[in-house]
This record gives sequence, C-alpha cells and structure tokens, in this order.
Amino acid sequence: MGIFSKVMRAARRRSPWVYVLNAGSCNGCDIEIGACLSPRYDLEQIGGLRQGSPKHVDILLITGPMTLRSAEAVRSIYEQIPEPKAVVAVGSCPATGNVFAGSPTVEDGVLRRIPVDVFVPGCPPRPQAILAGIREAADLLAQGKTGASLKEVQHG
Ligand code: SF4
Repeated sequence: MGIFSKVMRAARRRSPWVYVLNAGSCNGCDIEIGACLSPRYDLEQIGGLRQGSPKHVDILLITGPMTLRSAEAVRSIYEQIPEPKAVVAVGSCPATGNVFAGSPTVEDGVLRRIPVDVFVPGCPPRPQAILAGIREAADLLAQGKTGASLKEVQHG
C-alpha cells in the first residue's frame, strides 16, 4: 500500500464524516443521533462531523423502516456518497421494520436497497451505542473492510 493510501485510511479512522438520513422513522432514533452531536456525547471528540451533503461524507447513518416513498431517495443518496463508504443502520427499524413491519407503506428494512455494514439495535439505541457504531464503521473503512460483513454493535 502506498503512503497516500495509508494516510487516507488513517484519516478515515480519525475523522469520520457522516450524513444522516431518515427513511421513515418515528424520529426517536434521530433525536438520539441529535444527542450524539450535543456537548454531552460530542461526535467531534472522535473526530466526527455531520455534513449536509452526501457527497462529502464517509458514513451514511440511516434510521427508519424504509418507506416505499423514501426507497428511491435512499438509493440515490447512497450512490452519491463517494467510495469507500460505510452504512450504519441506527435502531431496529432499518433491520426488520420493527413496529412498522407488515405495513403496506414500508419495505421492512433497508437491506434490499443498500448494503449495511453496522447495525445498532434498539428502539431507540442510546447515544453511546450510536457513537460505538460510528467508530466501528470508521474502523471498517480504515481497514478497507466495508461491504464484507455485517457487524452488530451493542452498548450498555
Ligand atoms: S427503532 Fe424505534 S425509535 Fe427508532 S425509528 Fe424505529 S420505532 Fe422509532
């Protein structure tokens, strides 16, 4: 591996930039993600930044069960994120649909639309678990192992 690639991998581990996408959640998980941005949990302490454009990030944080109306937008936003990239599914909804499962307006999870690298279960998960999921995704990016396996992150 060249020196440039080594520097890029180290940078991805130390400064994961994230884009947050609500694919039909009840907003509970989004509120916990908001807490991660607050001074108490402070995503910036692990070098993370929330960005407003998917074209500028390494990690997609996705919440919700994937409604039929959001599915194409989710795919489009995923494709706008440059490689290498990682996807963190926040909460139980992206995995199974959770309380929305069986509804005619949802797809019962995001896996049919985009590959997910890290699941953070919970309804909603705690901010500490979401930060652990972001750290796990940053490690996978740094190791060049995104898309290879599905990790589940528990905390507390
Ligand atoms: S996992 Fe729970 S809190 Fe999060 S979006 Fe689904 S229902 Fe809401």
